Amino acid sequence: MAETIFVLDSTAFYSGIPYQGNGKYYTTYNVLEEVKHQSVGSALIHSRVQVTEPSKEAVDQVSSMAQKTGDISALSATDISLIALAFDLNKNGGTVNLVSDDFAIRNVAQVLKIPLSETNIRGEWKKIMWKLYCKGCGKEYTNPKLTQCIVCGTTLSRKALKPT
Ligand SMILES: [Zn+2]
Repeated sequence: MAETIFVLDSTAFYSGIPYQGNGKYYTTYNVLEEVKHQSVGSALIHSRVQVTEPSKEAVDQVSSMAQKTGDISALSATDISLIALAFDLNKNGGTVNLVSDDFAIRNVAQVLKIPLSETNIRGEWKKIMWKLYCKGCGKEYTNPKLTQCIVCGTTLSRKALKPT
């Protein structure tokens, strides 16, 4: 049986990368850039995640589909590259799961018949949880979208909580 391929968006990284499991994990350079300055343990990313770029054809195909569905304005270049990568991998006959919570990403992927992760995939990923905290004043945050401390303005840091 073929190995399952998970294509990860940046929110997938924020919710934690699986330590173990049989899947293969893919993302694009754009996504990696986005999560890098959020200090999401890059050593761990490199040991688990294959970083690759989609084909130009796939990017074009995804872009024109996103235009048709009206999602294009909600999608960044990063989002499009990610959908395109999943599209490529899916076409190559792998068992692909695109992991994203983003509505526009999910919508376009669905139209292109790219399998989407169940939203409960997060459940399997509880092995590492990331905690956001401020090095300046010590305040901790749970909103993964925050980048700055609302108390003192320091750029927030992330650390992995010990697996339970
Ligand atoms: Zn602070």
